[in-house]
Amino acid sequence: MDDSYEYKPFYDGLVEHGLIVPTSVLGTFGRGAVFEQVVLRFNDLVNRLAADDGAEVYFFPPVIDRKIMEKVHYLETFPHLCGSVHSFYGDNKEAHNLAECANEGGQWGDMLKQTQVVLSPAACYPVYPTLAGTVPAEGRLVTVLNWVFRHEPSEEPTRLQSFRMREFIRVGTPEQVVPWRDMWLQRGLDLLHSLKLPASSDVASDPFFGRGGKMRALSQKDQKLKFEVLVPVISEVDHTAVCSFNYHQDHFASAFGIYTQDGEIAHTACMGFGMERIAMALFKTHGFDIKQWPETVRELLCLN
Ligand code: AMP
Ligand code: ZN
Repeated sequence: MDDSYEYKPFYDGLVEHGLIVPTSVLGTFGRGAVFEQVVLRFNDLVNRLAADDGAEVYFFPPVIDRKIMEKVHYLETFPHLCGSVHSFYGDNKEAHNLAECANEGGQWGDMLKQTQVVLSPAACYPVYPTLAGTVPAEGRLVTVLNWVFRHEPSEEPTRLQSFRMREFIRVGTPEQVVPWRDMWLQRGLDLLHSLKLPASSDVASDPFFGRGGKMRALSQKDQKLKFEVLVPVISEVDHTAVCSFNYHQDHFASAFGIYTQDGEIAHTACMGFGMERIAMALFKTHGFDIKQWPETVRELLCLN
């Protein structure tokens, strides 16, 4: 097993073992069959763990209504991460100019216009508008596995532009939502420990943009709104967040008109596994060859 914590040898090892396939853009590598198998088997394990929770299961495409991004003020807080889908609306002549511009290596993006959709920045975003109205007394619980986009090109294999999140989203009263979030924090830790990952948890903050963002991050930490479970993957010191547990208070519910039975604005929380990061934490900890992984880990992931 490789004991160093440099990102480059780890990335090269993933490539050499056929686990990932390099592409020409940072953070967009392809996944090999074994890498994908680990992602999907981990997802199955989460299904088994949460089987009795009664979550509603949905699947959404990687694009969402751009109004969702607008309503939750995403462009105020994370403009640097956003991805927007643009297309061509012109006539024949303009189409010709567009193709010519592209052929000459020009700035053809300037000739496109915004569509109705943006790339989803988190798996839970398409869920909130579907919860509009009054939720049942017991609240609601939804789970999704979606592709998300964040514009953070990086050479670190653990920082992707396009990746998957398995999320659970809980909506209800604060008394329902906060203990649920805390339950999942412990459950997430226990799950990763059962896979023999050296995981630990810590209070965390989101990468808010700019000067105002620093204040937001401090306040988020102060109020313990976000926790992460971390595993050393590419650094022995700065461990990699492999899942997060977020209490949004009434941020999403007020934006989309989600109410509890007594007419109050509901509260929401979500927890999400970064699927590629989970797979990479497993490869880092147990080695590039899944046949050499500890027997209990192979059994839990049904890799036998
Ligand atoms: P967040 O909504 O930022 O808390 O992200 C949820 C989870 O997605 C994190 O705990 C990570 O495991 C994963 N994640 C976040 N950003 C990235 C990224 N750029 N590349 C890969 N995984 C990520
Ligand atoms: Zn979420």
